[in-house]
Amino acid sequence: MTPLVLYDTYTRSLREFQPLNPPEVGMYTCGPTVYDYAHIGNLRTYIFEDILKRVLLYNGFSVKHVMNITDVGHLTSDADTGEDKMEAGARRAGKTAWEIAEYYTEEFRKDLKRLNILEPTIWCRATDHIQEQIDFIRCIEEMGYTYRTSDGIYFDTSKLPSYGYLGRLDIEGLQAGARIDMGEKRHPTDFALWKFSPKDQKRQMEWDSPWGVGFPGWHIECSAMSAKYLGPFFDIHCGGEDHITVHHTNEIAQTEACYGTRLANFWLHGYFLQLDEGVKMSKSSGKFLRVETLMEEGYDPLAYRMFCLNAIYRQKLNFTWEGLDGAAKALDRLRNAFYDWGAPTEPDHAYRQKFLEVINDDLNMPKAMALTWELVRSDLPNGVKKATLLEFDRVLGLNLANWQPPEEEIPDEILRLVEQRQQARAEKRWQDADRLRNQIIAAGYEVMDTPQGPKVKRRRTG
Ligand code: AMP
Ligand code: ZN
Repeated sequence: MTPLVLYDTYTRSLREFQPLNPPEVGMYTCGPTVYDYAHIGNLRTYIFEDILKRVLLYNGFSVKHVMNITDVGHLTSDADTGEDKMEAGARRAGKTAWEIAEYYTEEFRKDLKRLNILEPTIWCRATDHIQEQIDFIRCIEEMGYTYRTSDGIYFDTSKLPSYGYLGRLDIEGLQAGARIDMGEKRHPTDFALWKFSPKDQKRQMEWDSPWGVGFPGWHIECSAMSAKYLGPFFDIHCGGEDHITVHHTNEIAQTEACYGTRLANFWLHGYFLQLDEGVKMSKSSGKFLRVETLMEEGYDPLAYRMFCLNAIYRQKLNFTWEGLDGAAKALDRLRNAFYDWGAPTEPDHAYRQKFLEVINDDLNMPKAMALTWELVRSDLPNGVKKATLLEFDRVLGLNLANWQPPEEEIPDEILRLVEQRQQARAEKRWQDADRLRNQIIAAGYEVMDTPQGPKVKRRRTG
């Protein structure tokens, strides 16, 4: 038995993972806010979560994976001020908020597919769960954790002694240093559960509630929908590192107030992709690369997945085009090797064991890749290598089994040389045949004689 050990942000420690209700693992991952395309930074987080899910599956668990779609309530400032990102995005696009939500959700799903990310078991949209969110807020209210201001219903974080534990927040320091305009908020960490629609303006997205017409705050959807689909205490909750101090902290507060649980047994966070040392990639900074941008530059999306596999998820990763080039070349090498190995036989036991050890060591993908290259270079029979790599790929997700070398256009003059060589061979003019073969090689091609006749392809270098 090789235990699966994961780094839990809540306890700041490596802990052995055991499902609460084996063999099923309940996993909730915060999904995109669909007011714009996802950038490759966002997608680094979804790749990390996909690796986690695949590692759970590899360990023999089943995974009930829930991902939300935030299509309302995420304001331009995480401090509950500013405009709703959806309404602002809609205005920018000259469409309705509903239309852009639909559009960007579909684009996001396309990106997941391109990166071979497994679909969640359940997708849930915030706007499809307004009643659940209202019920949840009512529960928090009944437990005595809310107050009302002129613009909404707020969570009083001072009432919850454990508030901020996940992010190890220095509550007193925050309180003392609160210079930002808190409006009517009583404490800097308090946050909106329900916001009222502005009096002078009709929002595109608004609903009736016991408190007045308005819309849910950003954090409540995740507490409400995770409770609905996974229960109030489930196995794993994930997101990007930026969620630790605000979004996940507030999700925990809501669920603790209502149910008394810290929502999830394990909290895992993926670290940011940044453009240059220290510059984070964000939708608002305008420094923003999409999967489609990479494709326009001629890269296979899976080269980006490969790029991410070379780093551990708990460290920031710098995006560089040189790095992506390296990953693309490595992927090409791996695909061709895999393809050329012929039919798989039986996987190698020792390699499988080593692979399990590194992936179960808090998803150490750089070590998993190093092991992959060691396997490629090993002198195991090709069929064994292929069967073993096929197993690894259940976690790597590079979709090796479905890759085919692209059909090559062989120039006419090369085809003519091949034909002449065939003729020479048929007439047993061996010297001519050899000379023609050398000419083909010198032109950068190679010819292989197979029972179906000669096969010609471009020679691979490097
Ligand atoms: P959003 O659509 O902004 O709500 O973000 C979706 C997911 O991407 C969240 O889990 C964020 O934590 C994560 N994220 C945002 N920016 C980055 C980045 N530069 N690198 C990695 N993950 C990110
Ligand atoms: Zn969330």
